[in-house]
Amino acid sequence: MQHKTIIEPFRIKVVEPIRMSTPEEREQSLRTASFNPFLLHSSEVIIDLLTDSGTSAMSAEQWAGIMRGDESYAGASSWFRLEKVIQDLTGCDYILPTHQGRAAEHLLYTRLGGEGKVFFSNTLFDTTRANIEYSGATGVDLPIPENADTQLYHPFKGNLDVDRLREEIENWGAEKVAAVVLTITNNSGGGQPVSLENAKAVATVCKQYGVMFLLDACRVAENAYFIQHREPGQEHRTYREIAQELFGLADGAIMSAKKDGLVNMGGFLALRDLDLAQACRTVLIITEGYSTYGGLSGRDMEAIATGLEEVFDPDYLHYRIRSTAYLGERLTAMGIPLLQPPGGHAVYIDAKMLYPHIPVDQYPGQALVCELYRLGGIRSCEIGSVMFGKYDAGGKLIPARMELVRLAIPRRVYTQSHMDYVIETFGEILEQADRVRGYRIDWEPPFLRHFTARFSPV
Ligand SMILES: *Cc1c(COP(=O)(O)O)cnc(C)c1O
Repeated sequence: MQHKTIIEPFRIKVVEPIRMSTPEEREQSLRTASFNPFLLHSSEVIIDLLTDSGTSAMSAEQWAGIMRGDESYAGASSWFRLEKVIQDLTGCDYILPTHQGRAAEHLLYTRLGGEGKVFFSNTLFDTTRANIEYSGATGVDLPIPENADTQLYHPFKGNLDVDRLREEIENWGAEKVAAVVLTITNNSGGGQPVSLENAKAVATVCKQYGVMFLLDACRVAENAYFIQHREPGQEHRTYREIAQELFGLADGAIMSAKKDGLVNMGGFLALRDLDLAQACRTVLIITEGYSTYGGLSGRDMEAIATGLEEVFDPDYLHYRIRSTAYLGERLTAMGIPLLQPPGGHAVYIDAKMLYPHIPVDQYPGQALVCELYRLGGIRSCEIGSVMFGKYDAGGKLIPARMELVRLAIPRRVYTQSHMDYVIETFGEILEQADRVRGYRIDWEPPFLRHFTARFSPV
């Protein structure tokens, strides 16, 4: 069968100009930013693939909702609309709105966590782990072993290793387990999906041991797409039905609406248990806002409610996942080493394979991030030893497991020609690969150094 091009399923009504820059200007900007793209001004960037979080373009319907937003302090109609949309999607009775995902994490994990407690996950996202550890609890990642091999194809590389989960619950004792958190899709594990079968198996183990089961559901629609397309028996279901079944397996969920909520800010906590919801709601009112707006304006709640409906549109999801795959497939065909297969929201380049001559203590990922900016004005994110490296007692770098660079794709923002431009830039990256040098860190803060560290070329 002849397939036609999968086009962006929208027309563009409002445009935001991109300022083009010359290689000389970019060289200057890179120096001023101490070779750390986080320190660039967005106006200096041509294509911004730093993150897919909060960078979505909203629809005409969402913007209309911004005007309709009810800004009443208590009982706003925008709240009741959002509450109903989330209840219908998650099947949970108790919904707590928050300003973003990590605020919901803080409410729940300080309540469930504490000294001596443990959380298990396929892979905890960094803010999730930080909230768990901040409470005094321990976070343990149990991804399937296939997740570690960047070149291996597995349809659900984000799955949790259920045998190890059972072992670890036995080792720790079920009473110490605060919760099992399934991250869908598995963001830190490469944006890889989790199968419905795996989610069911995790739910069964949790039930067996009486352990709480939670979803970190930031990209639940993208995950549902992969289930429908890759999991036998799921092909005739709608994406929304699949998402509802996933939520139905869990005792609750946290979602950052900055991803599959298709908005720039927002999040929520959804729970089935009244006592737990009431305890979290008390802290919500102290730290975020009254229970019918949390950290959000009425207009934000309208936009999230509409976003959570639009994100399950089959044409949208097809375009979304195909555009990520398009970038991944083209780069693979050119010989760029990628984490395979491409995930839902991002493509991850293996910088250690691309620049084998740059030692890990000279940060090959940082070198690629800088080259992408130099050659194309493209901003990307190092996910390697700059982000996760530590030092031993002698001050020697303990490198991260992998040296990756993430190209995260904002939703409904860029067109295929923007992606073609990125692909062309990789052609130049490849030609010049053996001439690229590494970087040293001149200054770094004690925590989360990747945001503010200053570099210079070796
Ligand atoms: C983004 C994200 C979070 C945190 O959400 P914020 O809105 O950024 O606070 C939690 N988990 C996952 C998997 C995420 O991708």
